[in-house]
Amino acid sequence: KLSKRLSIVASYLPSGAVFADIGSDHAYLPCFVCSNDNEARAIAGEVNVGPYESAKETVNYYQLNDVVDVRLGNGLEVVTPGEVEQVVIAGMGGALIKSILEEGVDNLKNAKRIIAQPNVDEKNVRTWLTTNDYVISHEAITEENGHIYEIIVADRYKNGKQLTEMEILFGPELLKSKPSEFYQKWKLEREKRLRVIEQLNQAKIPPKEKIYQFEHELKMIEEVLM
Ligand code: SAM
Repeated sequence: KLSKRLSIVASYLPSGAVFADIGSDHAYLPCFVCSNDNEARAIAGEVNVGPYESAKETVNYYQLNDVVDVRLGNGLEVVTPGEVEQVVIAGMGGALIKSILEEGVDNLKNAKRIIAQPNVDEKNVRTWLTTNDYVISHEAITEENGHIYEIIVADRYKNGKQLTEMEILFGPELLKSKPSEFYQKWKLEREKRLRVIEQLNQAKIPPKEKIYQFEHELKMIEEVLM
């Protein structure tokens, strides 16, 4: 059974998806999708040999070799330009997801949809997507095993509109829907920033720029929590 987090990711793939799952680990997501949809085809990419072997094992176990292709390589280098229509990058930090997209941008040709599930630093992902011809079309937030996860879905769109600073931080769609997990997350994030600001202020030479940045975000957080 797929985790709640990955089930939500899967729900944003169209039927008959032709997609890549980058950093697939055990390849649970592509195996789930392709077992439930005869038309779906997937490439499971892994940069590390251990997870690559695990992915191959799962694919063999479910006898999905014809439809899930496991490939060893860094980021999007495992796909050729035009090969896939959707790209999933889940379960990593936002900075890593951003760099995978940035380095592999040429291989994204034809990729109509990107589904990203950053564990932290969602801002980086939103900034990259909206400055690279993608527009955020759906967002979800969910809680599982004490963690709160965000899922960001972006579709290719020429002349995508710029997001505001608030939308980059909180997510344009999550700002509209504000589910209860959203409040849960940002209450915690508010407390984290309060602690960091306090610590930074105790430094011998308090880093003014950093403190200002955290205070600035704190103001935005308090505004959305009101
Ligand atoms: N995507 C799965 C999920 O969401 O449950 C697995 C997430 S797992 C925490 C992250 C995986 O990404 C690891 O298996 C790691 O080897 C892989 N990874 C990290 N950097 C990568 C890169 N540059 N290219 C491909 N895979 C990468």
